[in-house]
Parts: sequence; C-alpha cells; structure tokens
Amino acid sequence: MDAVLAVDIGATKFAAALVDDQGEVITRHQVRADRERDADGLFEQVAELLGAVMAEAPERDVSIVGCGVGAAGPITANLELISPINLTEWRGFPLRRRVADTTGLMVAGDLDTKALALGEGWIGGAVGVRNFMSMVVSTGIGGGVVLDGRLLEGESANAGHIGHIIVVPGGRQCGCGAYGCLEAEASGSAIAATTGRPPADAHAAVVERTGRLVGRAVASVVNLLDFELTLVGGSVALGFGLPFFEAAQAELDANCKLAGSRPVIRPAELGAQAPLIGAAAVGWQALGRLDPLAG
Ligand SMILES: [Zn+2]
Repeated sequence: MDAVLAVDIGATKFAAALVDDQGEVITRHQVRADRERDADGLFEQVAELLGAVMAEAPERDVSIVGCGVGAAGPITANLELISPINLTEWRGFPLRRRVADTTGLMVAGDLDTKALALGEGWIGGAVGVRNFMSMVVSTGIGGGVVLDGRLLEGESANAGHIGHIIVVPGGRQCGCGAYGCLEAEASGSAIAATTGRPPADAHAAVVERTGRLVGRAVASVVNLLDFELTLVGGSVALGFGLPFFEAAQAELDANCKLAGSRPVIRPAELGAQAPLIGAAAVGWQALGRLDPLAG
C-alpha cells in the first residue's frame, strides 16, 4: 500500500503519521517541542520523530511515496522558510529542505490552517463544497479559505488570517500589534488572560461572547467573499460546543443581510487527526495523485 508521510509542526508539539490515499491514518507518533533546545536541536526532535514513523513502514507493508507538512506560520510558499509566532527558536527556518534532506522524500508543505481546509474538503465536513472557510479557535485563531474550488494562497502564501480581523475597535492589543483583533479577544490565550481561568472553566457569558465575536469576524469574510459554509475546529470552539456555535450563528445571521446570503457555521469534522490529514492532503496533492478539493 502507498502512503505519504504527514507531518504537523505546531508551536508546542510535533506529530507525524503515515496516511493512505483515503485519508486513513496508519500509524502516528508525536513529541512535545523541547523549548530548552536551539533551532537545530528542535529539528533533531523532528528528525527522530520522522525516523520512528518511517521505520514502521516495512512491517506495515507500506511504501512511502512522498511527504506533506503543515506548519504554524507565518511561512513562505511551500514552507521554504517558517517563522512560527510561538516557536521563536525558528526564524526563517528552512523547514521544507531540512525535511527533504532528512527523509530523501519529495516534500510539499503549507500553512497548517490552509492544510486543514484541504483536509476538510477532502474527507471532512466540506466534501464537494466549492466555496467554504475552515477555522481553528484554539490557543490562537487562524483559517483557510476555499473559493471556486481552489485554496486561496495570497501574496505571501498566508491567506486566511481571520484571527486579525478587527472585532472590537480599540480593544485588547494583539500579538500582531493591532488592537481588537479576533485573536486578541476570542482566542484561548486571550480568554485565559482576561478571565484569569482556562477556557475549559469559562463562564457561560464568556462562551457566548466568544461565539459572538467569531460570528462577527466570519460575517465580514462571508460578505466579502460570498460563501455559505464555515467549519470551526480547535480546542476552544469544540470545548465550548453548542452555546458557542449558537451565538456565532446568531451573530452571523445578524450581520449577513445581503440578498441570498445563507451563511452556516458548524463544527469541523476531522477531529483530533485533522492536522495530519490536512498535511497528508498537501502531500497527495503535490504528488498529483489526487485533488483534495475535487469532491
Ligand atoms: Zn492581530
């Protein structure tokens, strides 16, 4: 059986898996990023992880045909250089080349949130949908947009940064420097900073406000780009559950008044494996073996 090596580079952990062309995860390993290490030391952790996953291929009768990577941004196209905001050891780190040198494989990469959108379009909640957005509301907030059946890239390959849409003019200062960004008001780290407790212990009013602010940001994007479906994943959104989604939908309805606009916001469907499935979609697509957005 053929599989791709799928790699998820987050700010706190690294994960890798073998994933077949149906999106099935065959084996998976992960490691916590050791923040005591320098840039090369961190990559040694990644290299060990990749070695452990690749070593399992023969016993599972798998032939690894390529590698797809999703990484926290900002990035440059194809992950030639990555500078994850919350992984300060890596600034302009040549991730794609280092993974290729380590594995000997064809390596393709993308921003983690864009990879997630590909994954949702491939086997998740947006199969056959030509226009949609996928979002993550977790420690931070990010997204990816598919329009006319194509993943939006943008000038610097970082399109979809919905976390930096202003939802509270003059609000809290964001890590990006602006004030009142969605990420500064509704992310897990913003909730912890403003309420003094983790999102898992948030009061109902905080859950409702977070949903409302997410709905407000989504409404702006829906009005600009003309799509109906938004899928939201991430520990904060999925942990808050129904009250969050109801508040988001109500705010979306209140702000999308253009004729024919029928926006829907609902939970992402890929669950805990989503980042690896998204990374696999990037790999399979680059190999020309499948189009994750073909429906
Ligand atoms: Zn911002």
